[in-house]
Amino acid sequence: MSGDLRDLYQEVIFDHYKRPRNCGALDAATHRAEGHNPLCGDQVTIDLKVDDGIVKDVRFEGAGCAIATASASLMTEALKGRRVDEVEALFRRFHDLVTAEHEQDDAGLGKLEVLAGVREFPARVKCATLAWHTLNAALRNRPEPVSTE
Ligand code: ZN
Repeated sequence: MSGDLRDLYQEVIFDHYKRPRNCGALDAATHRAEGHNPLCGDQVTIDLKVDDGIVKDVRFEGAGCAIATASASLMTEALKGRRVDEVEALFRRFHDLVTAEHEQDDAGLGKLEVLAGVREFPARVKCATLAWHTLNAALRNRPEPVSTE
């Protein structure tokens, strides 16, 4: 990855950390789950409104490090209007992106690819995937909070 691209990625992450999108509770949520990453102290709640198999709205609440917050914010932007089965495929691709040993040329993940750099920092992978694991639990209506440990 070129230095310029890396700088751009860091700018996007910082922007989403400072001004998180879709932050706050969602009225009339149909799905909700809480997630916790004890290693870093990140905590997130994901609220979803699913109607007819489509994610109509998604919001998150919580406190976390820059990576956890930016990842949750970017995730909410990526999900709106998607079918639930698309969301699961997206999660698998995102998980591959942040854990793969080699850079992929084009993972087809759009803006989410700014988080690819965390693969160099294994502890940060949990920060980047916390919102996604929590989302998964919300979609499955799991009552117990999610933990990355
Ligand atoms: Zn973190």
